[in-house]
Amino acid sequence: MGSDRSAADAFALLSDETRVEILRAVARAQAELDEVNAGPTELAFSEVYDRVDVDNTSKLSYHLGELAGTFLRKGESGYSLTHAGERVVRFVLSGNYERPPEFEPVETDGRCPFCGERSLRARLHHQFFLVECTACERPVSNYTVTPAQVRSLEGEELVRSVERKQAMDYAQVRRGVCPQCAGPLSTEVRDIDESPFPEADSLLAVDRCRECLRGYTALLTYGVAYHPASVAFHRERGVDIATRGLWTFNDHLYEGRWTAERVATDPAEYEVVLRHGDDALRCRLDESATVQRTERVRRR
Ligand SMILES: [Zn+2]
Ligand SMILES: [Zn+2]
Repeated sequence: MGSDRSAADAFALLSDETRVEILRAVARAQAELDEVNAGPTELAFSEVYDRVDVDNTSKLSYHLGELAGTFLRKGESGYSLTHAGERVVRFVLSGNYERPPEFEPVETDGRCPFCGERSLRARLHHQFFLVECTACERPVSNYTVTPAQVRSLEGEELVRSVERKQAMDYAQVRRGVCPQCAGPLSTEVRDIDESPFPEADSLLAVDRCRECLRGYTALLTYGVAYHPASVAFHRERGVDIATRGLWTFNDHLYEGRWTAERVATDPAEYEVVLRHGDDALRCRLDESATVQRTERVRRR
């Protein structure tokens, strides 16, 4: 990996309250000073000293020396956060290393793909935002939710936040960028053996990050829904699709408005059609589930 430090060595540097406090202090100071966002603000030694509870300058100097190169960058006029420092300090400040607090189950829009009822409810389950059907009690969607989201939002606001995050993540995934680490994704289109949707040709886009191994799986149609052509198509019809969660799309498959099929093999090509009233957006996808071209059609 081109690194002379192991991950364990790097993390061992953080098992010291003063060092974690230094990273917090640099981030807080940058937030105060970075008003115009003209690149990362460097904090002089004396500015760090003013903000951290440490006995004397030689102790601070020692800790800064330990952090430098891994979590801090030492520049001409002081210290700023490295990429690793950024990631770690945001994680610490947001409290995302804590367990998320429990929240009251919330009713949410959408239809159950299994029984067709519109009786979905979201709750926290093993640190995931689980959407389940209260009629047939089956899980409908499971997505990551951060402790920071659960701590600072509730009810409808929390649902909206999860939807927006999921929508942004999948829009990014369909452009081949991992939402976690920005590494490249490997994509495969698979058939679902048994579709829960009546008469739907169910194809799945399965993406995995080649760097951090994070996986993303969604119906092929759902990923296409966040494509700019679909966002524009729906916006013109009064639907803000770019901020909706995947589980709210079930209605479209259930009622046969959205369909996907394989139209060529070797190399594979797929056609996804998103219908709205008498209009439809027809999208042609290549074997990596990337939209190659779109066309609008009107039913006669
Ligand atoms: Zn159900
Ligand atoms: Zn990744």
